[in-house]
Amino acid sequence: MYHCVNCGAETEELYKRYSPNVLKLLKCDTCGFLADKYIEYDPVIILVDLILLEKRAYRHLLYNCNLKPCWKLIIILWLVESFRSLSLCNNNAIYVPNWKAFQYNLDGSCNLYLILFKTAFALVAFISTVTLLTKIKWYFQPNNANKCSAIYLIEALIIGGAGKLLGLLEITWGHIFEIPHHFLILGYTLLCLTTAYLVISNNGKLESLVILGIGMIVYNYAINFAVATFGILQLV
Ligand SMILES: [Zn+2]
Repeated sequence: MYHCVNCGAETEELYKRYSPNVLKLLKCDTCGFLADKYIEYDPVIILVDLILLEKRAYRHLLYNCNLKPCWKLIIILWLVESFRSLSLCNNNAIYVPNWKAFQYNLDGSCNLYLILFKTAFALVAFISTVTLLTKIKWYFQPNNANKCSAIYLIEALIIGGAGKLLGLLEITWGHIFEIPHHFLILGYTLLCLTTAYLVISNNGKLESLVILGIGMIVYNYAINFAVATFGILQLV
């Protein structure tokens, strides 16, 4: 089932095809606007609207597109975040005074496999926490018509987490150790995540921020937990 990008209502069809080159976009029965104008748009325009946090673009991507390649994005996010942690870890001695207040994991060893493991563990912990909290919230709202499967939620979190790809620019331009840049990327990622999460869950903004905030706290503590577990295993 497709969704109208304007109001989020379900619709069976987005367009009618009259010939291989002629199709007519259909209007939404609920709001009266074109159900999905992005079908005729160039992908670059859709990307710009996604960067500008346009909810309609997120609805088009999350509900009306094939998101099977989403697993590639999660691997890219995993590698970028791991590479960023590795860069910070390798320069720990120089930059630790700047980061001590904000980063918990700089005293761990700079082992690539450990960093890959703890980043993967933290990502799974973040997605699991947000999904679980959302499911609990929906459990106490049996009449909520906007419930969706966990798969949609996970896809929304992966798409929203793409804001972290700005970290690639941070690494390329050598600004990785600047605290304002770190908070800029963190803030933009939170905005992307909130937009994607709002579209898919239809929760209030405050509830969404609380749930995502808890997820991010769990993400940070999961990194420390993974490091501690790895250290205990090494001692054993
Ligand atoms: Zn509509």
